[in-house]
Formats: sequence, structure tokens, C-alpha cells
Amino acid sequence: MVQFNKLRLTGFKSFVESTELSIQAGMTGIVGPNGCGKSNLVEALRWVMGETSAKRMRGGEMDDVIFGGSGNRPARNVAEVVLTLDNADRRASAQFNESDDLEISRRIDRGEGSTYKVNGKEARARDVQLLFQDISAGAHSTALVSQGRVGAIVNAKPTDRRSLLEEAAGITGLHTRRHEAELR
Ligand code: ATP
Ligand code: MG
Repeated sequence: MVQFNKLRLTGFKSFVESTELSIQAGMTGIVGPNGCGKSNLVEALRWVMGETSAKRMRGGEMDDVIFGGSGNRPARNVAEVVLTLDNADRRASAQFNESDDLEISRRIDRGEGSTYKVNGKEARARDVQLLFQDISAGAHSTALVSQGRVGAIVNAKPTDRRSLLEEAAGITGLHTRRHEAELR
């Protein structure tokens, strides 16, 4: 299983000031009163992995992830999330497999869309999405379970359930690549 080491959010949703969380091995719980930002943290993980749907980020457009102002704090124009993961077992795809630590960042500038970097080098959204698919994480993977999802899995059609098994086996990234190759 891949280990996330650090998550840093700046100007992302309610995390207006730069906030860094260090994530230890084992189980991590996030507790706090309603509205304190627990779901925003999980969404930050999904976002840095390449989420493309503003709706799944509970927004109308992707710019809504940028801190929108509150009280006397003005809105920001940039949001950034940086995720550091442990790649000591070299599970990442070949193009990113040069180091024991991988730092993946996504930044959005208001009105200008997102840019991604892996270890400081610009990367395509597709490459970042595949990177996480290959390690069986990713914005749409079973690693992130939202409310109602367990019931949906129990009632799923066999083909949908097969895709869960394929993800567990770590071959989802291969399927995506084959699909893209067939479209070309
Ligand atoms: P609950 O326990 O009710 O599930 P939670 O801890 O999961 O709460 P979140 O949903 O993560 O809370 O956070 C909601 C808060 O984040 C709200 O106060 C909302 O105003 C704030 N928020 C969301 N997006 C933005 C944004 N773009 N700018 C500023 N604040 C935001
Ligand atoms: Mg919540």
C-alpha cells in the first residue's frame, strides 16, 4: 500500500493560510466540529490526484476550490495542494520513478485552470491521474469512499464489481492506456 507522508494546502477551500499535515503510517482520523474542513481535506486529496469534476468537489466550477473570502479575509486567486508520497518501493510509473519521495502538486489560478508538477517538473493532468491509478489510489478509486458508496457497491452490477477487482489488482492504469491507444 502506498504511504502518503505530507499534505499541504494553500488557499484551498477553507484552508486559506498554508496548512501542512504530516501523515503517519497506520490509521489517521480527522475529527472536528461541523464545517471545520474535514471533507475539504479529503477533497484536497482527490483534487491533487486529478479530479476534473467541479460537482464532485461540491462546486459549480473548478475555481470554487479557491478560498472565496470570509468575514474580513478577502478571496484568493490561487489555490495549491501538494501531496508527498513514499515511493521507496518504486511503484510509480517509469517516467516518475527516479526518487524515493514523490511530490505531486496541483495549482489553480482563477480563470486560468490547473497546472500540475511532479517533483518540481511540469506534468500533464493525464500523467498525474495515471500515476495514481497505477498505485491504486486516484480520484475515482476505491481508496476514497464517499457516503452512500458502500451501498452502491453491494448493489452493483457484475461488470462494475469487476472494475473494483481490477483496481485492487492494480491494472486499472493499463486499461486506461489501452482505451486511449484504441481511440488514437
Ligand atoms: P461536517 O462535519 O458537517 O461534514 P466538515 O468538517 O466536513 O463538516 P467541510 O465541508 O469540509 O466541513 O467544510 C465546510 C466549510 O468550508 C464551510 O464553512 C464552507 O464555507 C468552507 N468552504 C468551502 N469552500 C470554500 C471556499 N472556496 N472558500 C472559503 N470557504 C470555503
Ligand atoms: Mg464533511
